[in-house]
Amino acid sequence: MPTLFEKIIAGDIPADIVYEDAWCVAFRDINPQAPTHVLVVPRRPVVNVAQAADDDQALLGHVMIAARNVARQLGVAETGYRLVVNNGAGAGQTVFHLHVHLLAGRSLTWPPG
Ligand code: 5GP
Repeated sequence: MPTLFEKIIAGDIPADIVYEDAWCVAFRDINPQAPTHVLVVPRRPVVNVAQAADDDQALLGHVMIAARNVARQLGVAETGYRLVVNNGAGAGQTVFHLHVHLLAGRSLTWPPG
């Protein structure tokens, strides 16, 4: 059963894609929590960080660098942005296909609620 994000990556569900490469796709969150809210998603459906294998190191690193590049592309790199990975239901993960939230464009407080 493909994940929701696999369906988006396959083009079966529409999304506002802002970046893609051989390893990952980035698209705008359907329920944005900031003026810029993008999800950077590996094409391969790794569930989350907890379930990633040691061999996924390059993929996870790639996703982070892609998030950095998306921040530059969208013009939020200079003003600051937050990268978040919700890892497991207890941390708020609802889609079990690894994704990095890129949030920017408003003041972000710490700690998150
Ligand atoms: P999580 O809670 O798993 O960390 O984040 C999942 C994110 O996926 C949420 O921010 C949610 O708004 C977003 N999302 C859920 N369904 C869709 C969808 O169909 N399209 C897009 N673009 N984002 C979605």
